[in-house]
Amino acid sequence: MKSRFAPSPTGYLHIGGARTALFAWLWSKKHSGKFVLRIEDTDRERSTQESIEAIIDGMGWLGLEYDEGPFYQTDRFDRYSQIIKVLLDTKKAYYCECSQERLQSLREDLIKSGEKPKYDGCCAKKGLKSGAVRFHNSKEGSVVFSDLVKGEITINNEELDDLIIARSDSTPTYNLTVVVDDHDMEIDCVIRGDDHINNTPKQINIYRALGWELPQFAHLPMILGGDGSRLSKRHGAVSVMSYRDDGFLPNALLNYLVRLGWSHGDKEVFSIEEMINLFDLSGINRAPAGFDRDKLLWLNQEYIKSTDTNELIEHLEWHLLSQSIDTSKGPLLVNVIEHLKGRSKTLVEMAKSMKMFYHDIESFDHGSAKKLFNENSRPVIVELANKLQELTDWSSDSIQKTVKDICNEQGIGFGRVGQPFRLALSGDGNAGNIDIVAELVGKERSIARLSMALDYIDMSK
Ligand code: GLU
Repeated sequence: MKSRFAPSPTGYLHIGGARTALFAWLWSKKHSGKFVLRIEDTDRERSTQESIEAIIDGMGWLGLEYDEGPFYQTDRFDRYSQIIKVLLDTKKAYYCECSQERLQSLREDLIKSGEKPKYDGCCAKKGLKSGAVRFHNSKEGSVVFSDLVKGEITINNEELDDLIIARSDSTPTYNLTVVVDDHDMEIDCVIRGDDHINNTPKQINIYRALGWELPQFAHLPMILGGDGSRLSKRHGAVSVMSYRDDGFLPNALLNYLVRLGWSHGDKEVFSIEEMINLFDLSGINRAPAGFDRDKLLWLNQEYIKSTDTNELIEHLEWHLLSQSIDTSKGPLLVNVIEHLKGRSKTLVEMAKSMKMFYHDIESFDHGSAKKLFNENSRPVIVELANKLQELTDWSSDSIQKTVKDICNEQGIGFGRVGQPFRLALSGDGNAGNIDIVAELVGKERSIARLSMALDYIDMSK
């Protein structure tokens, strides 16, 4: 059993494309079949090498590996010409020499009289030997097919155009190439966005004219932005790779995408294995799906918490590099990540929080420092620095005991010690459990930061 993803390389791989790819990939895995990548690059003006690379990179990052391809339609022009010739020879297609002007005025006239714009078959009987090639669409009967998502669909042939299958420069068009490729590549199930549903009856007629067996079709409902309009750039329908840049884990994005228009009871979190086992085209909703970035963030946080630390390190490396964080000197990366796992919504956030463990702090957040570093806290900070200096066992337990002792001795609450300590260690007060943070920051750096806090107090006098 085979499915395919057939993007046109005219932009990056966006959320909608990635979801189509994921559903086709899941379908093939579920059927222990093959997944084909086909680059539909016949539109030479709009297709770019950069976009091909962006699509392949995006799929690679998501782990949507293909078993066959990438195939390029521009490599298959001979095959398309051969099929066009077959259709011409069997009178299932004909040449058309109508000018753009004629077609334009035909169109305008039909629209004016309230009819659907359609070619009038002017050249069908002329027996021309050159020009654009049109498929001879029967005017009788109807096309009926059972879409695996939308159900039974019936279109009267009367409504279908004699569509152009090769332009006058002999380049083939989408509706022809897609049929030839899906047939030659032995695709069993065509899974694609429902923006193509109007093309399907035309394609079915081409299959029939060639005597080819039909694949099954599944048209996925579109994705809407939060405001109900079709998802676009302004809703964050940006490239899949920009989600990597924003600190999302590929599996969290896949999990989010699988739930965009598909459900399995109330279940929200799916491992890849579960997705494969449970995925079923019948679980796809017919209504459009709404994009919700907060839910994606929530899922990402869940994934960060539950992903194995060594695997997280692999994904984190890119972010450490892009934020110029050098982890070669300082606490063990694994320990820092274990500490931050439960507190980070994204890997960008996690990498940012890692800075305090590996880099010196250059300054304190001014607003917090004004509140917490002052003559009142001065003796507490001095005492804390002295006591910590004496510690021989630099562990979170003994650090915690030291803080508690100071609270007891001076008769003050934990916050009076903990808050200035947290600010001194982190620079901005954003840090988790203070004992663990101090243990990870290390003795020397912790004490240096407390004396930096004392300098701050002295300077602000
Ligand atoms: N190349 C088409 C697109 O990117 C998809 C065609 C198909 O899946 O049949 O919209």
